[in-house]
Amino acid sequence: MKLQQRFVMYAVLMIAASIIVGFAVSNVLYVAFVKEQINDRYLSVLEEFTEQIELDQITLEETSSYLYSKSKLGYQIALVAEEGTMHSYGVPFEEMQLTEQMASIFKDGETTYNGIENARFSGLMMSHFENSLSNTVGLKVAIEGKDYGLFLRTTNSSMFSEMHLVLFGFVIAAFVISVVGILLISRKLIRTISELTAATEEIANHNFDYPLTITGKDEIGKLADSFRMMQEKLANTDETRRKFINNVSHDFQSPLLNILGYSELLQEEIASEEGKQYNSVIQTEAKRLSNLTKQLLTLTSLDQGTYPINKQEVRIDEQLHSVVRSFMWRIQEKELEIDLDLSPTQVYGDRTLLMNAWENLLSNAIKYNNEFGYIIIRTYETEKAAFVEIEDTGIGMEQESVDHIFERFYRVDKARNKEGMGLGLSIVHEVLTYHQATIHVNSELGKGTKFKIGFPK
Ligand code: ADP
Repeated sequence: MKLQQRFVMYAVLMIAASIIVGFAVSNVLYVAFVKEQINDRYLSVLEEFTEQIELDQITLEETSSYLYSKSKLGYQIALVAEEGTMHSYGVPFEEMQLTEQMASIFKDGETTYNGIENARFSGLMMSHFENSLSNTVGLKVAIEGKDYGLFLRTTNSSMFSEMHLVLFGFVIAAFVISVVGILLISRKLIRTISELTAATEEIANHNFDYPLTITGKDEIGKLADSFRMMQEKLANTDETRRKFINNVSHDFQSPLLNILGYSELLQEEIASEEGKQYNSVIQTEAKRLSNLTKQLLTLTSLDQGTYPINKQEVRIDEQLHSVVRSFMWRIQEKELEIDLDLSPTQVYGDRTLLMNAWENLLSNAIKYNNEFGYIIIRTYETEKAAFVEIEDTGIGMEQESVDHIFERFYRVDKARNKEGMGLGLSIVHEVLTYHQATIHVNSELGKGTKFKIGFPK
């Protein structure tokens, strides 16, 4: 469940819980205070009626019209004779049954009936609104020398006076407003979290400039401030790291070239076979280090945007032809079969950078191939893009490794190849990103690998 949905769900549950608790509290208040007051009020009204009837000794007929006129004040009144005949005045009762308890009013010594107090669900406020004869307060009254029961309650509509409706409206409006408010607040909160998430993702992609719009003095504002500080520090560290790599690579380059040059000269001077062998190891290792520093320099200059880019129309099919030619001795050494399907394909880009990418990809296709394996290289164009495919039948990789091969210094298995430093494919990635090209890798362990590159037009 998304954070906002969870937040809204909890808030709605809270509102529902507060309504239930509020309802329970109001019930307790009703039972503790209001109910008794209402009872007493009804009784005093009834006493007033019976006094009037008994003192003035009015007839049954006169009593009827008297009660009828009183019912207009918002009362439901019933006059019940001992044998069970009933007359009601005002809004009719929905249920008019003379219960045993009500009938007991006619017994000697009993004068009052308290139906509100003894209601079925007397603890619930809602029972107060039950429109039945039993939900009344009653008094015995003598008319024309005969005992009658006079029962009374207030009509529901007058209980639900306008104030009650206003109160009801208030509760509903408060509920709606709280739900809408919660939605708005949660959206605002979630937006800040989404923004922070996006900024974090950018940091993971080495972009430390993602602008955060969150401000404020609250916790989220403070979090955003700390985040900005972290962005700044990370950007500084990254810059220092790049500068360091750049400087070290630069400083390594000239001594390495010296070592290479002198060891080449030395090769002629060395007489013993063993000495020549040692010297060629020095040469190979110095070449390896020199290549590494060159790769590092290319990467840092691409990172810093200081690489001297020179964009022009480049025939990549021709470039691939020439890369294959320059790697021919390694291809033949491993007795690989190479299949070229290079139709004229042109892209707008930097010649040297692209060449670097092809060299890295082909060098990998050879390095990670099996003896007598195949390499297939294809170039073709469609209306929307130019494509390069480099496929080999080598050792391949698992998907887990494929997900990491473009990371710097990542090597699937260091034992596979002692030459590599895990920088080649990160350069390929940088170069292709620079050209807005896409690269897809399909690889299967033990079967081979296919790189497909697309340059949009
Ligand atoms: P390296 O210099 O180690 O070759 P790369 O960046 O070129 O570094 O490649 C990263 C890793 O990806 C390599 O260590 C290698 O294991 C794997 N890899 C690259 N190309 C291939 C390929 N064509 N076939 C199998 N594995 C490959």
